Amino acid sequence: MNLDAEFHCLPQYERFCNCTFQDCCCGETNVHEWVWDNKNSTYAIVLSENNLEVKLHDEYSLGTAVVRGNKLLEKGRHHYWEVKMLTTVYGTDIMVGVGTNKVDLNGPKQSFCSFLGLDQESFGFSYLGYIQHAGKKHTYGPCFGKGSLVGVHLDTWKGTLEFFLNRKSLGIAFTGLRDIILYPMVSSTAAQSMMKLTCSCSVPVSLQVKCLSILKSSHRAYISTMFPGLRHLTQSIFADILKAQSNEEDDESEKD
Ligand SMILES: [Zn+2]
Repeated sequence: MNLDAEFHCLPQYERFCNCTFQDCCCGETNVHEWVWDNKNSTYAIVLSENNLEVKLHDEYSLGTAVVRGNKLLEKGRHHYWEVKMLTTVYGTDIMVGVGTNKVDLNGPKQSFCSFLGLDQESFGFSYLGYIQHAGKKHTYGPCFGKGSLVGVHLDTWKGTLEFFLNRKSLGIAFTGLRDIILYPMVSSTAAQSMMKLTCSCSVPVSLQVKCLSILKSSHRAYISTMFPGLRHLTQSIFADILKAQSNEEDDESEKD
Protein backbone atom coordinates (compact mmCIF):
# COMPACT_ATOMS: atom_id res chain seq x y z
CA MET A 1 0.00 0.00 0.00
CA ASN A 2 1.43 3.37 -0.95
CA LEU A 3 0.57 5.73 1.89
CA ASP A 4 2.07 8.75 0.13
CA ALA A 5 -0.37 8.33 -2.73
CA GLU A 6 -3.34 7.56 -0.53
CA PHE A 7 -3.10 10.62 1.72
CA HIS A 8 -2.77 13.43 -0.74
CA CYS A 9 -4.05 16.12 1.62
CA LEU A 10 -0.94 16.11 3.83
CA PRO A 11 0.14 19.46 5.25
CA GLN A 12 3.19 21.21 3.81
CA TYR A 13 6.38 20.62 5.75
CA GLU A 14 10.17 20.75 5.47
CA ARG A 15 12.50 17.76 5.37
CA PHE A 16 15.89 17.89 7.12
CA CYS A 17 17.76 16.93 3.93
CA ASN A 18 16.93 16.24 0.30
CA CYS A 19 18.19 12.65 0.12
CA THR A 20 15.89 10.43 -1.89
CA PHE A 21 17.08 7.07 -0.54
CA GLN A 22 15.17 5.63 2.41
CA ASP A 23 17.85 5.27 5.07
CA CYS A 24 20.08 8.36 4.87
CA CYS A 25 22.00 9.19 8.05
CA CYS A 26 21.92 13.00 7.76
CA GLY A 27 21.77 14.71 11.14
CA GLU A 28 22.38 11.51 13.10
CA THR A 29 24.75 11.43 16.07
CA ASN A 30 26.27 8.48 17.92
CA VAL A 31 25.30 9.83 21.31
CA HIS A 32 22.54 7.85 22.99
CA GLU A 33 22.14 8.24 26.72
CA TRP A 34 18.79 6.50 26.60
CA VAL A 35 16.75 4.48 24.09
CA TRP A 36 13.10 3.45 23.72
CA ASP A 37 11.71 1.13 26.37
CA ASN A 38 9.96 -2.11 25.41
CA LYS A 39 8.51 -2.47 28.90
CA ASN A 40 6.98 0.99 28.91
CA SER A 41 4.92 1.18 25.77
CA THR A 42 1.55 0.35 24.30
CA TYR A 43 1.36 -3.29 23.10
CA ALA A 44 1.44 -2.27 19.42
CA ILE A 45 5.12 -1.19 19.46
CA VAL A 46 8.04 -2.90 17.73
CA LEU A 47 11.60 -1.76 18.49
CA SER A 48 14.69 -2.38 16.35
CA GLU A 49 18.24 -1.04 15.72
CA ASN A 50 19.23 -1.40 19.41
CA ASN A 51 15.90 0.14 20.47
CA LEU A 52 16.55 3.37 18.55
CA GLU A 53 13.97 2.70 15.87
CA VAL A 54 10.34 2.39 16.83
CA LYS A 55 7.42 1.19 14.72
CA LEU A 56 4.08 2.23 16.19
CA HIS A 57 1.20 -0.09 15.17
CA ASP A 58 3.08 -2.98 13.58
CA GLU A 59 0.25 -3.93 11.18
CA TYR A 60 -2.95 -1.91 11.39
CA SER A 61 -4.05 0.74 13.87
CA LEU A 62 -6.97 0.49 16.29
CA GLY A 63 -6.09 3.51 18.38
CA THR A 64 -3.11 5.38 19.80
CA ALA A 65 0.27 3.81 20.52
CA VAL A 66 2.79 5.40 22.89
CA VAL A 67 6.40 4.62 23.79
CA ARG A 68 8.55 6.03 26.58
CA GLY A 69 12.31 6.45 26.95
CA ASN A 70 14.04 3.96 29.26
CA LYS A 71 15.49 6.67 31.53
CA LEU A 72 14.00 9.68 33.26
CA LEU A 73 15.35 13.10 32.33
CA GLU A 74 17.51 13.86 35.37
CA LYS A 75 17.34 17.15 37.25
CA GLY A 76 20.10 19.76 36.97
CA ARG A 77 20.75 19.08 33.29
CA HIS A 78 19.97 20.30 29.79
CA HIS A 79 18.47 17.38 27.87
CA TYR A 80 18.26 17.26 24.11
CA TRP A 81 16.89 14.49 21.94
CA GLU A 82 15.82 14.19 18.34
CA VAL A 83 13.66 11.87 16.29
CA LYS A 84 13.62 11.50 12.52
CA MET A 85 10.28 10.70 10.90
CA LEU A 86 11.00 7.67 8.71
CA THR A 87 7.54 7.15 7.24
CA THR A 88 4.69 9.33 6.01
CA VAL A 89 3.20 11.31 8.89
CA TYR A 90 -0.61 11.34 8.66
CA GLY A 91 -3.82 10.56 10.50
CA THR A 92 -5.39 11.85 13.73
CA ASP A 93 -2.04 12.66 15.35
CA ILE A 94 1.62 11.90 15.68
CA MET A 95 3.26 13.67 18.60
CA VAL A 96 6.66 14.16 20.23
CA GLY A 97 7.03 15.26 23.84
CA VAL A 98 7.48 14.33 27.48
CA GLY A 99 5.36 12.89 30.27
CA THR A 100 5.48 11.74 33.90
CA ASN A 101 5.45 8.14 35.12
CA LYS A 102 1.72 8.58 35.80
CA VAL A 103 0.94 8.56 32.07
CA ASP A 104 -1.12 5.44 31.28
CA LEU A 105 0.58 4.22 28.11
CA ASN A 106 -2.14 1.64 27.43
CA GLY A 107 -5.01 4.01 28.22
CA PRO A 108 -5.57 5.27 24.66
CA LYS A 109 -4.98 2.02 22.78
CA GLN A 110 -8.58 1.83 21.58
CA SER A 111 -9.15 5.48 20.75
CA PHE A 112 -7.60 7.72 18.11
CA CYS A 113 -6.41 10.80 19.95
CA SER A 114 -3.81 13.57 20.26
CA PHE A 115 -2.34 11.77 23.23
CA LEU A 116 0.59 13.83 24.53
CA GLY A 117 -0.79 16.75 26.53
CA LEU A 118 -4.26 15.28 26.80
CA ASP A 119 -4.07 15.76 30.58
CA GLN A 120 -1.77 17.34 33.21
CA GLU A 121 0.74 14.48 33.01
CA SER A 122 2.20 15.12 29.56
CA PHE A 123 3.29 17.81 27.07
CA GLY A 124 3.21 17.32 23.32
CA PHE A 125 4.08 18.81 19.94
CA SER A 126 1.89 17.61 17.05
CA TYR A 127 2.84 17.07 13.40
CA LEU A 128 0.03 19.55 12.65
CA GLY A 129 2.09 22.29 14.30
CA TYR A 130 0.29 22.86 17.59
CA ILE A 131 1.35 22.11 21.18
CA GLN A 132 -0.87 20.61 23.87
CA HIS A 133 -0.94 20.37 27.67
CA ALA A 134 -3.81 19.64 30.08
CA GLY A 135 -6.14 19.17 27.13
CA LYS A 136 -5.48 22.69 25.77
CA LYS A 137 -4.06 23.13 22.28
CA HIS A 138 -2.09 26.20 21.20
CA THR A 139 -0.78 27.27 17.80
CA TYR A 140 3.00 26.91 17.90
CA GLY A 141 5.14 25.99 14.89
CA PRO A 142 5.14 24.57 11.38
CA CYS A 143 4.00 21.05 10.49
CA PHE A 144 6.44 18.14 10.31
CA GLY A 145 6.45 15.04 8.13
CA LYS A 146 8.50 12.24 6.61
CA GLY A 147 12.20 13.19 6.67
CA SER A 148 11.78 15.91 9.30
CA LEU A 149 14.03 15.98 12.37
CA VAL A 150 12.08 16.94 15.50
CA GLY A 151 14.20 18.03 18.50
CA VAL A 152 13.24 18.44 22.15
CA HIS A 153 15.21 20.57 24.63
CA LEU A 154 14.30 20.29 28.30
CA ASP A 155 16.09 22.71 30.61
CA THR A 156 15.41 21.16 34.01
CA TRP A 157 16.90 24.19 35.79
CA LYS A 158 14.66 26.81 34.22
CA GLY A 159 11.86 24.30 33.77
CA THR A 160 11.37 25.06 30.09
CA LEU A 161 10.54 22.82 27.15
CA GLU A 162 11.49 23.94 23.66
CA PHE A 163 11.02 22.11 20.37
CA PHE A 164 13.23 22.23 17.30
CA LEU A 165 12.41 21.41 13.70
CA ASN A 166 15.35 20.52 11.47
CA ARG A 167 17.67 22.09 14.09
CA LYS A 168 15.81 25.42 14.14
CA SER A 169 14.32 26.50 17.45
CA LEU A 170 10.56 26.99 17.46
CA GLY A 171 10.76 28.89 20.76
CA ILE A 172 9.80 27.99 24.33
CA ALA A 173 6.66 25.86 24.26
CA PHE A 174 6.11 25.26 27.99
CA THR A 175 7.41 26.68 31.28
CA GLY A 176 6.97 25.60 34.91
CA LEU A 177 8.43 22.11 34.45
CA ARG A 178 11.18 22.57 37.02
CA ASP A 179 9.93 20.22 39.70
CA ILE A 180 8.40 17.54 37.51
CA ILE A 181 10.15 14.23 36.76
CA LEU A 182 9.70 13.60 33.04
CA TYR A 183 10.34 10.89 30.48
CA PRO A 184 10.69 11.31 26.71
CA MET A 185 7.64 10.07 24.79
CA VAL A 186 6.20 9.77 21.30
CA SER A 187 2.66 8.82 20.27
CA SER A 188 0.97 7.90 17.01
CA THR A 189 -2.42 6.88 15.67
CA ALA A 190 -1.05 6.02 12.20
CA ALA A 191 -0.51 2.42 11.12
CA GLN A 192 3.12 1.38 10.66
CA SER A 193 4.52 4.79 11.52
CA MET A 194 8.27 4.67 12.12
CA MET A 195 10.61 7.07 13.91
CA LYS A 196 14.29 6.86 14.74
CA LEU A 197 15.91 8.31 17.84
CA THR A 198 18.93 9.97 16.22
CA CYS A 199 20.32 11.58 19.39
CA SER A 200 19.66 11.56 23.15
CA CYS A 201 22.13 13.53 25.22
CA SER A 202 22.52 15.87 28.17
CA VAL A 203 24.95 18.28 29.82
CA PRO A 204 24.89 19.70 33.35
CA VAL A 205 23.50 23.17 33.90
CA SER A 206 26.70 25.08 34.70
CA LEU A 207 28.50 28.35 34.13
CA GLN A 208 30.73 26.58 31.59
CA VAL A 209 27.70 25.49 29.56
CA LYS A 210 26.12 28.93 29.87
CA CYS A 211 29.32 30.47 28.47
CA LEU A 212 29.23 28.01 25.58
CA SER A 213 25.91 29.45 24.47
CA ILE A 214 27.29 32.93 23.87
CA LEU A 215 30.47 31.95 22.00
CA LYS A 216 30.82 32.58 18.27
CA SER A 217 31.72 29.54 16.18
CA SER A 218 35.25 30.91 15.63
CA HIS A 219 35.70 31.13 19.42
CA ARG A 220 34.44 27.59 19.78
CA ALA A 221 36.95 26.37 17.20
CA TYR A 222 39.75 28.19 19.09
CA ILE A 223 38.72 26.66 22.42
CA SER A 224 38.52 23.20 20.81
CA THR A 225 42.13 23.55 19.69
CA MET A 226 43.51 25.13 22.84
CA PHE A 227 41.55 23.22 25.48
CA PRO A 228 41.06 19.58 24.44
CA GLY A 229 39.28 18.96 27.74
CA LEU A 230 36.42 21.21 26.59
CA ARG A 231 36.02 19.56 23.19
CA HIS A 232 33.14 17.39 24.40
CA LEU A 233 31.23 20.63 24.97
CA THR A 234 32.40 22.88 22.13
CA GLN A 235 31.76 20.17 19.56
CA SER A 236 28.53 18.86 21.09
CA ILE A 237 25.09 19.51 19.71
CA PHE A 238 24.47 21.81 22.70
CA ALA A 239 26.77 24.43 21.21
CA ASP A 240 24.05 25.00 18.59
CA ILE A 241 20.98 24.19 20.65
CA LEU A 242 21.78 26.58 23.50
CA LYS A 243 22.86 29.30 21.11
CA ALA A 244 19.34 29.52 19.73
CA GLN A 245 17.97 30.08 23.22
CA SER A 246 20.66 32.60 24.14
CA ASN A 247 19.90 34.71 21.06
CA GLU A 248 16.27 34.93 22.10
CA GLU A 249 17.31 36.19 25.53
CA ASP A 250 19.53 38.82 23.91
CA ASP A 251 16.59 40.02 21.85
CA GLU A 252 14.58 40.50 25.01
CA SER A 253 17.28 42.40 26.87
CA GLU A 254 17.70 44.79 23.97
CA LYS A 255 14.12 45.96 24.46
CA ASP A 256 14.89 47.11 28.03
ZN1 LIG B 1 19.88 12.76 4.03
